[in-house]
Amino acid sequence: MADIIKLLPDHVANQIAAGEVVQRPASVVKELLENAIDAGSTLVKLIVKDGGKTLIQVVDNGVGMSETDARLSFERHATSKISDAQDLFNLKTKGFRGEALASIAAIAHVDMQTRKDNMELGTHIKIEGSAVVSQEVVATPVGTSISVKNLFFNIPARRNFLKSNQVELRHIMDEFHRVALVHPNVAFHLYNNGSEMFNLPAASSRKRISHIFGNKMDERLVPVQEETEVVNISGFICKPEFAKKSRGEQFFFANNRFIKSPYLHHAIVAAFEGLIKPETYPGYFLYLEVDPKTIDINIHPTKTEVKFDDEHTLYAILRSSVKHSLGQFSVAPVLDFERDSNLDTPYDFERKEAILPRVTVDASFNPFDTTVAKRKEGISYQKQSAKGWESMYEGLEGLNPEQDFSSFEIESETEIQSSLYAEEGISQETGITFQLQRKYVVSTVKSGLLVIHRNRAHERVLFEKFLSEITVEKGLGQQLLFPLEVNFTPQERAIVSEIQDSLINVGFQFENLEEETVKVTAVPALISESKIGTVLDHLIADYKEGFRDKSLSQAELLAHGLAKNLAIKSGEALDNESQMALVHDLFACKEPTLSPNLKKTYTIISEGDLDKKLL
Ligand code: ADP
Ligand code: MG
Repeated sequence: MADIIKLLPDHVANQIAAGEVVQRPASVVKELLENAIDAGSTLVKLIVKDGGKTLIQVVDNGVGMSETDARLSFERHATSKISDAQDLFNLKTKGFRGEALASIAAIAHVDMQTRKDNMELGTHIKIEGSAVVSQEVVATPVGTSISVKNLFFNIPARRNFLKSNQVELRHIMDEFHRVALVHPNVAFHLYNNGSEMFNLPAASSRKRISHIFGNKMDERLVPVQEETEVVNISGFICKPEFAKKSRGEQFFFANNRFIKSPYLHHAIVAAFEGLIKPETYPGYFLYLEVDPKTIDINIHPTKTEVKFDDEHTLYAILRSSVKHSLGQFSVAPVLDFERDSNLDTPYDFERKEAILPRVTVDASFNPFDTTVAKRKEGISYQKQSAKGWESMYEGLEGLNPEQDFSSFEIESETEIQSSLYAEEGISQETGITFQLQRKYVVSTVKSGLLVIHRNRAHERVLFEKFLSEITVEKGLGQQLLFPLEVNFTPQERAIVSEIQDSLINVGFQFENLEEETVKVTAVPALISESKIGTVLDHLIADYKEGFRDKSLSQAELLAHGLAKNLAIKSGEALDNESQMALVHDLFACKEPTLSPNLKKTYTIISEGDLDKKLL
């Protein structure tokens, strides 16, 4: 039988390698920026169009390449950075595998102009899908400019797999930050569709962080510095009170390279233990310097996963140095997590005499009267504060209407109709509901005892409300008398502009979205003013995370995020009127049986079940 094994032609091998190195435009950005740094540049410009799908260009003022090197740089395993295997254990450069340019050229249209310092003229090469189209002499500044156009032009499947321009741009920004954060002495610019997004002058490491994440960042940073035999650690952690729900601002760099390490991340979280709320993450920018012999970078083509020889020791040192910094800068005093802003005396009342609470009861109110067309939604979810202190202020509402928007009333024109509700015939005679463990609402229906999971039920109700506002009819927002200023990082801003339309539909309004400090001028009526910042923070974080789940639409992600944030939590008290309203609203939902997370919202314990239990 004839032999069947053959060597793949170079362009096929390159395309296969490209599959590993280039997942999306951001991967190209990473490789080109790293090459510019390796070339000793002091100024690097990144220019992208349409999330990098149309153009990614990196212009540097580094050493440039000779005519031959320029040609050779596109060959696979062509590198100037190592010459034998021994060099792998003493890496000082970012690149060394010699496959980035070859891979990129296999799947895009590449245009490179480069000139070395000692040469009068430079060289201009065009390559399309691994084939050199032209190479000419050109007048060009010292350094290199590489344009990568029409990424994946010859692999439609990969091109179709790319996300929206904004999402791809976000990935690009992430890579840009990762490189810019380790090289504060290099000036970086980022232009997107012709407008400047970042202008980062050469600066100290601390300044670089603020230039990227906004001036407010500076006051949050606490320095970390530790020198040991195994590792030198430098950098910053963010004060515990600024821990976020989003995992955005966590950066480890090992020997000037951004790395991902869940294990070392855990060391930081462990150091912050007891200082931050559960499910929030501390921010950090930590630079580790280890002997190059003790770290293996070559375990993954993108080189973000690395292996340290002595990870356990590293973990221990990292944890204790972060703890030390937290203690030294006395940022470790107790944070009172139980503190509930509901319990604070509203500013206006601080100097006022106490007024006796006046309880008002609407005697004619009948929650079961389904013929009533207008219902006041605002009342339905009026939460009672955990210790009932809010009653102190009862009768004072109206003195300061902007104090708490959750009590704002909106007229809902929708008539409550629900087949299930009608079928089950919720105890029309008694109208009794009560609560169990501040977690369940219990009522009776024809077939037995109805037990509703409050939190899930409320999430379902809010989810459908927000979803319909986003997709069908705009919801009403509450105009803020004094716009609230919120600081967003550029990435957060990018997300907010991406989901802006949906946010506006549910009642948000923003001003100055292009600037660091964004003004929130209106919010959905259910959000109280003190919670706006947190809700937006959570929303952005959830939205970012949600992209992993491709089956959800933007509208669903947002509606879900809002519902999750605003739904009543276990432990919060809910008055009788609100309990009943929740029952009504749940059964008016399109999908009352399941929460947006697809968990059961209620169960019915039938007479038969009870009989069995009482045998
Ligand atoms: P690697 O970076 O792993 O060596 P690349 O494919 O990224 O492999 O680049 C191949 C070679 O091209 C590099 O080793 C370097 O010599 C040269 N090169 C690439 N980009 C630049 C640049 N911006 N300036 C100067 N030389 C460059
Ligand atoms: Mg490289």
